[in-house]
Amino acid sequence: TDITALLLSRIRDVADYPEPGVMFKDITPLLADPAAFTALTDAFAEVAERTGATKVVGLEARGFILGAPVAVRAGLGFVPVRKAGKLPGATLAQAYDLEYGSAEIEIHAEDLTADDRILVVDDVLATGGTAEASIQLIQRAGAEVAGVAVLMELGFLNGRPRLEAALDGAPVEAL
Ligand code: 5GP
Repeated sequence: TDITALLLSRIRDVADYPEPGVMFKDITPLLADPAAFTALTDAFAEVAERTGATKVVGLEARGFILGAPVAVRAGLGFVPVRKAGKLPGATLAQAYDLEYGSAEIEIHAEDLTADDRILVVDDVLATGGTAEASIQLIQRAGAEVAGVAVLMELGFLNGRPRLEAALDGAPVEAL
């Protein structure tokens, strides 16, 4: 579709970043283009409305940039999932495996309620480790995940089946 072509045209492939052999998808040209950034925000907001989301959870750091305007556009609250050690209040933490080593993310559990339905927003779905850990955090906080919305899915890394196994029927939408 037109929006897919517009968004794709504003994503820059950067070879050998952050390490040799990796083709990094750089979204900064998209952020710098108001037509593309607005089209992306509108498309995510449509997913939020269609899934009945009550809040947007954005994943550090590009999920903050993409998720916050979606929350405002859709009239919803925004809650950040941060790397461990950055949130000042009482947190829930979730560790997950990386290719080498592990990582940990946190959320302020008090910002979610049992009535909340969460749209998880990030830029790129790769192995799914980050999004899966975020789903687990949201579920442990007592809220429900309404869906996961990403700009781009790197299908060859098989993140989608991992999320679907954690999700109980909620959609994974890749624009
Ligand atoms: P995963 O946990 O799915 O393996 O990796 C996804 C996380 O890493 C996301 O938060 C995403 O921002 C980041 N990421 C992985 N690969 C890329 C990439 O090629 N481009 C961008 N912009 N982010 C990436």
